[in-house]
Amino acid sequence: MEPIIGIDLGTTNSEVTYIFDGQCEIITDNDDGIVPSCVGFDPQGALIVGRKALNQAILAPERTALSVKRSMGTDHQFTLGHERFTPQEISAFILKHLKQRAEAKLGQSVGKAVITVPAYFTDAQRQATREAGQLAGLEVVRIINEPTAAALAYESLYPEDRRVLIYDLGGGTFDVSIVCIEAGVVEVLASTGDNHLGGDDFDQCIVAHLADHLSNKYQLAAKGDVLLTARLRRAAEKAKIQLSESPFAMVEEDHVGQHRGREIHLSLELARRDFEAMISPMLEKTMDAVNQALKDAGMLPSAIEQIILVGGSTRIPRIAELIEEKFRRAPHSEIDPDLCVAVGAGLQASREMGRSDSGVLVDITPYTFGTSTIGELDGTLCRTHFFPLIRRNTKLPARKSEVFYTMVDQQQIVDVLVYQGEAPDALDNFRLGNYQFNLTPAPAGAEIVLHYDLDLNGILKIKAVEKQTGKAIDAVIENAFANSSGAQLEDNRQRIVALWGNDQDQDAPKDTPDAAETPLQRMPDDLPPIYVELFQRANAALDEADEDDRDEMINLMEDIRNALTDDRPADAEGARAALDDILFYLE
Ligand code: AMP
Repeated sequence: MEPIIGIDLGTTNSEVTYIFDGQCEIITDNDDGIVPSCVGFDPQGALIVGRKALNQAILAPERTALSVKRSMGTDHQFTLGHERFTPQEISAFILKHLKQRAEAKLGQSVGKAVITVPAYFTDAQRQATREAGQLAGLEVVRIINEPTAAALAYESLYPEDRRVLIYDLGGGTFDVSIVCIEAGVVEVLASTGDNHLGGDDFDQCIVAHLADHLSNKYQLAAKGDVLLTARLRRAAEKAKIQLSESPFAMVEEDHVGQHRGREIHLSLELARRDFEAMISPMLEKTMDAVNQALKDAGMLPSAIEQIILVGGSTRIPRIAELIEEKFRRAPHSEIDPDLCVAVGAGLQASREMGRSDSGVLVDITPYTFGTSTIGELDGTLCRTHFFPLIRRNTKLPARKSEVFYTMVDQQQIVDVLVYQGEAPDALDNFRLGNYQFNLTPAPAGAEIVLHYDLDLNGILKIKAVEKQTGKAIDAVIENAFANSSGAQLEDNRQRIVALWGNDQDQDAPKDTPDAAETPLQRMPDDLPPIYVELFQRANAALDEADEDDRDEMINLMEDIRNALTDDRPADAEGARAALDDILFYLE
């Protein structure tokens, strides 16, 4: 059968995929699946594509072309050395590179491809993409929208009909789309975004911060120094990526200049909190676009059943937090956000070849792992607030660090508690470990960095580090998944009992100290009659429901209670409608 490859032809990066043994794989070269969308001529005049071209981009902009996708369908011409090229021609060089990569892997020639484009691409831009394919020797059998491709990638994991919001933040562009999936058919309902917003802007914020530091401390001007700016930009991106995992990152660059005859070595710590503050206005802009997309689709946030994160920049933890704050559900990123669109293109290519059994293989954690902190639970400060570090459905291996603070002066001990579960109160989750950390006496507010490292086999490594002194304790939980299975059931049972009481004892008052902390106590007393009746039906249906439906129903009831407590009637109504749908189907 003639092979058809899938291609994500991105503004910053491109990838090529193919289905091997029913699984969609990114075709790599030297273990690198990402090809920077960059084309140039080297000093000897030879054509270079991908990482090699990117490496020379800053020092030789006159012979390097970047971000060609932004010019597709326009008359813009790229000048490389003495020659001029259309956007289609530059794109064709990238496509040819991807085609050759696929041919080397498959051991046969490849002449057909599925290529993805943004949902907002006009006919002219789509036509230009087809032409680029032809120039590269590829028949473009199908052009699909990027959000459609992302949704397809997730379809093998979540095959049910649903309404999905796709938040796609890459290096230079931001797109948000709402799609509706019914019987495997994906319809784009709304799509908007910003063509000039992405990770490059975040790097630029850090570069400006570093340049200020060099200027204030050493009177060294980075502006105008192309080489130094390029080095700062590389260091900034590295620090940004590290901050997605850790609360602090060190920026270190040797020999950045001279001050009073002495060499200057840049060494500056950056805190995630400060980085988040720097990029906050840009993240707010993306949320404005999310609101716009919802408005265009005529939907409330509660109507969205799944949120998918696409693009490398969505690894910044603040983005998932903002999404969760808005939609009250955690977004999905278990398929690598950099590769999700390419995976969807590969799956569509497989469909075009007449295969229907292709999917995606991802290893994810089925449980959330976190610790307990002093925090707010329903407006009351308590000691058992559950703070998730590695969330359910995160791709494995997963690593995450967070910073915590001591509460009192000269604090001698802190309990590092490790929990597994989804409940906001740690006491409702399963405790995997409790490690005492003897601290060095210091004023209140001393920073303790907690690291969680979870591998494919469920081995959870914990490390707590006193930031000021570097003093640390560590522990290994050998089988964080197996430990939990029995406990998980008990945990679920406890939650249900807490919500509904024992079957035999439906109406008994629950006045034990434990029950006082259960979600039931947070339920408003004056539940409107429409909800009382709905909750009674849900209660009756819980026993018969399978695990997924039961979880979903409990979550929706919690959503309703939270929405009513927070005075969000529209959200309560959305959750009510969703619960009603499940009950209709179950009854
Ligand atoms: P994309 O266009 O989807 O390939 O995304 C590229 C952008 O994602 C670049 O700006 C990268 O610096 C950024 N990026 C990649 N990994 C991370 C990470 N772990 N944290 C934050 N940004 C990242």
